Amino acid sequence: MVRAFLIKYAEIGIKGKNRYMFEDALVSRVSERLARCEGKFSVTKEQGRIYVEAKTAFDQEEVTEALSHVFGIAHICPVVLVEDKTFSVVCRELVAHMQEELGEKPFTFKVFAKRSDKQYPMESPEICVEAGAYVLKHMPNASVDVHHPEVSVYVEIRQRAYVYVTSIPGPGGMPVGTSGRGMLLLSGGIDSPVAGYMMAKRGVTIEAVYFHAPPYTSERAKQKVVDLARLVSEYAGKINLHIVNFTDIQLYIYDQCPHDELTILMRRYMMRIAETIARERNCLSLITGESVGQVASQTMQSLAATDAVCTMPVFRPLIAFDKNEIIEIAERIDTFETSIQPFEDCCTIFVAKHPVTKPDIAKMEQSEEKLAERIDELVETAIAGREIIEVQKQ
Ligand code: ATP
Ligand code: MG
Repeated sequence: MVRAFLIKYAEIGIKGKNRYMFEDALVSRVSERLARCEGKFSVTKEQGRIYVEAKTAFDQEEVTEALSHVFGIAHICPVVLVEDKTFSVVCRELVAHMQEELGEKPFTFKVFAKRSDKQYPMESPEICVEAGAYVLKHMPNASVDVHHPEVSVYVEIRQRAYVYVTSIPGPGGMPVGTSGRGMLLLSGGIDSPVAGYMMAKRGVTIEAVYFHAPPYTSERAKQKVVDLARLVSEYAGKINLHIVNFTDIQLYIYDQCPHDELTILMRRYMMRIAETIARERNCLSLITGESVGQVASQTMQSLAATDAVCTMPVFRPLIAFDKNEIIEIAERIDTFETSIQPFEDCCTIFVAKHPVTKPDIAKMEQSEEKLAERIDELVETAIAGREIIEVQKQ
């Protein structure tokens, strides 16, 4: 019976002297995620691997599902632990496990053995040969293929014996918390949740900021963003979501500036505010869901005009993605259905019929001079009055 999981990790295996930091982070992320599953588990690292061992009854499907959301994991292998290392006992347990996992259908296999218990009376090549012979004898649907086996059978002799045959792909990436903190501009759309997911996948801890404009945007639109943050947190862990009331700033720009520049000017103020909050929260970057050419505010000129107000790096992981490629990821990570709920966001209400697509930065700066009288005060008020919600997947 499966009582443990071997967790194999990819990239973090090659981090040299810092490797232990990545491993410790992965152990922590796995432990945190399992705390929400039924049962008690111990998570330990051992010779370049991480083991999860169930200490009580547990639901294998629930645990596999949980682990498949932890970045840094390349493969999840459900393991049978054999306390009695006598070779015949190990073989018996192995075949029972294979019958359960593989059923009656024909398959080819190869045995891989590892022996860290050097007192064990058999060496690895002998374990491979003998275990292979035992499987062939007891499973008529099995045949050996040493070059391209369909099933890799692992027998490891440590303090106890470990046998496993299944390797479930994990989400890859790096453990969240190993790459610093980034401030995600999270709207209710399809793109920004995907952008947050992608940066979290590279180990970045995510904070998020949402600009809403009541009464032009509804409570439902805000709730949708909270829901999206919660879905991203399934992968990214706890997210602090900063909700900034943008109405007065938007109306002021609308009153003072040419309407075809509105979107870009609004975006410049969003970036400025996001950066101020990001600094306060020790973030090292801003993250957006922009992609070149997707809309008027995402031409290279427009991106340059929004970049110009930031001193922090702005990361745009979707910059070269087509919409259908973004949707594919959104569907896979389960944000798509929420993203397409039809609630207006603050940009769609104030968009001009013919927004500038090639904004000139000097001209934008001139327009912003018209805001000199009140804008600093409005920005300060918006930042000070923001609501902060701690979002976490239940
Ligand atoms: P998305 O699909 O992510 O909503 P979009 O198609 O609405 O993006 P834009 O409105 O041009 O595109 O926004 C580009 C990026 O700016 C978004 O991906 C997001 O990072 C940020 N953004 C836009 N509106 C908001 C908002 N109201 N609050 C926070 N960030 C926003
Ligand atoms: Mg977009």
